[in-house]
Amino acid sequence: MSTNRPLRLPGRRLVLTKNKILESQKHTNSNMAAARWLSVSYNTYRKWAIFYGVFEQHLNQEGFGVKKGWSKPKIPMEEIFNGRKVRYTFKQFKTRLIDEGYLNEECSICNWNEERVTDGMICLTLDFIDGDSKNWAQDNIRFLCPNCYLSNNGFFHGSTKFCK
Ligand SMILES: [Zn+2]
Repeated sequence: MSTNRPLRLPGRRLVLTKNKILESQKHTNSNMAAARWLSVSYNTYRKWAIFYGVFEQHLNQEGFGVKKGWSKPKIPMEEIFNGRKVRYTFKQFKTRLIDEGYLNEECSICNWNEERVTDGMICLTLDFIDGDSKNWAQDNIRFLCPNCYLSNNGFFHGSTKFCK
């Protein structure tokens, strides 16, 4: 068993120590990877890394060593929000929204952000507030958990959709 991973105590909030964050940064070359290394959500990682003032230092310097594959060259998110058409899947769009800090990885209504036990994924779906899934304006998008999605849209995607 690895002793590097944070301990989860039922009913208590997860606390990441500065040492754990620094340790994770030593082993990885981006904040995303560091969060994954710690097996915590990016959200949680970012919160603590910023708290200790060690977030900026670990920003991946535009692709050195890390191949992102689908994202070259990157279109600024502002242009996408303003209606520039991109061939992103929702998953890719979602990843950028989280990765670049536009949305927290939590339900925008109830703040739910439980990670699925099996793989640490947070099952949230992208919701378009005006109902138009082609309107990617920043103020038209939010994350919803399955419960809030159901009560706001009246139907439910299957759980597999949420976790993509
Ligand atoms: Zn919710």
